[in-house]
Amino acid sequence: MAVNEENYRQVFEKAKAAQATLVAVSKVKPVSDILALYALGQRDFGENYVQELVEKEAVLPKDIRWHFIGHLQSNKVKYIAPFVHLIHGVDGEKLLTEINKQAAKNNRIINCLLQVHIAEEETKFGFDGTEVTALIHRISSGDLVLPNVAVKGLMAMASFTDDIEKLKKEFAVMKALFQQQAKPETSNLKLETLSMGMSGDYELALEYGSTMIRVGSLLFGARS
Ligand SMILES: *Cc1c(COP(=O)(O)O)cnc(C)c1O
Repeated sequence: MAVNEENYRQVFEKAKAAQATLVAVSKVKPVSDILALYALGQRDFGENYVQELVEKEAVLPKDIRWHFIGHLQSNKVKYIAPFVHLIHGVDGEKLLTEINKQAAKNNRIINCLLQVHIAEEETKFGFDGTEVTALIHRISSGDLVLPNVAVKGLMAMASFTDDIEKLKKEFAVMKALFQQQAKPETSNLKLETLSMGMSGDYELALEYGSTMIRVGSLLFGARS
């Protein structure tokens, strides 16, 4: 399936107007689709599965910034550590510690976002607001030292719903949580990114201060 160029331009312009980054979510889509957007200038791409990401990275241009947006298991960090640009879904200290270890092995500092659970669905991973604030405090105070990790911000997935009021509430919770964090700028903690908004809700997310939207089906067509 061809990519939807018109949608791409529209989403790109809306993100740009809000000074947000568009991550094109290419999971399960072929390399040819990624190259089609690459030709239009897109460089940030998001993937959910480690194996798929590793295979695509090997054959695609090296100036692509790869975002891992799926649920990451600790034992798979090593496969993406050599090249990943930003890991969005960090949902535990154990995972963060493993990312630090694998980043060190590759002589890199890996950018991470802490995933916050805002949706009602039981299946969504992430910290709650209290937990994430506590973790940020431990890092900024030097209590938890992870020299090869840079915590860049927060990530969330809203409920899968058409209920605008509910989505607004969830995005407002994230906006407040993001704003209320102390923003010390140490070398491995700089909270500048709020990753939220997908095909169905990215415009609303931008209204609520998202600085990074993750859009897939609107650009690449529905996933089967
Ligand atoms: C698949 C996915 C997206 C993109 O979803 P669309 O509705 O296709 O835009 C965004 N974020 C995460 C975490 C995803 O898994």
